[in-house]
Amino acid sequence: MSAISSEAVKQIAYLSGALKAPRITEAASRLADQARDAGWSFEDYLAAVLEREVSARNASGAELRIRAAGFPARKTLEDFDWDAQPGSRQQVAALASGGFLAEARNVVLLGPPGTGKTHLATGLGIVAARHGHRVLFATATDWVTRLTDAHRQGRLPAELARLKRYGLIIVDEVGYLPFEQDAANLFFQLVSSRYEHASLILTSSLPFSGWGGVFGDQAVAAAMIDRIVHHADVLTLKGASYRLRGRGIDSLPSIKTHDTAD
Ligand code: ADP
Ligand code: MG
Repeated sequence: MSAISSEAVKQIAYLSGALKAPRITEAASRLADQARDAGWSFEDYLAAVLEREVSARNASGAELRIRAAGFPARKTLEDFDWDAQPGSRQQVAALASGGFLAEARNVVLLGPPGTGKTHLATGLGIVAARHGHRVLFATATDWVTRLTDAHRQGRLPAELARLKRYGLIIVDEVGYLPFEQDAANLFFQLVSSRYEHASLILTSSLPFSGWGGVFGDQAVAAAMIDRIVHHADVLTLKGASYRLRGRGIDSLPSIKTHDTAD
């Protein structure tokens, strides 16, 4: 290497440090050899170096967003066995492009326990994180606890405003426990605050007709379902529990209202 280029290499290391893009140093020298061998233009070389930096930033940003989302387990759409849910494959493939997030559309996953609702909600959450959206996952019960705490401390509006900055909020297991009236109202406010603004994914083992019992009030449930499904994809998963596959157990006790023991 000539004296001039070794001086330039030092300067690149210093400058990329100053730009807080230290990976550029490595990409610049590695790609310089390739560029010389292949006779790239200056523009091609610069584009290739910057592209490495941008994709590395995107990947580490996605990883941070995935870790911050609070998923119960890391489950991706690539891990999903479509032979068990052939009916939903097309719908999920369309959602996997991430377009629903830009349009603030919702996704509702319905179906019996063990059919992959939480898995698919998580997989779509990972898609959202990879597309640059902040994501938060929690069960319906956990959301109500958070909102109740914020309400008691007089910061519900601030909390709802903060949550609006998340492109996707996932509410798992709607209907697993019924809500108190106050909780139902808080949950309604969460749904309203995101309506036509940012996406929600909800999962439930109850059909919509069972949601009145969950929210303690048919009118609240109807108003909520109206806002949720106005711009939503509703996927109904079917079949036996994936958890019980090959265990010689064909079905679980059927769930008519909610499976709580209160
Ligand atoms: P649900 O939320 O509907 O009760 P889960 O998504 O929690 O069900 O699924 C239960 C378990 O079975 C999880 O470990 C999940 O990853 C797995 N599972 C369910 N359906 C599938 C599938 N079609 N392909 C791969 N794994 C699945
Ligand atoms: Mg689940």
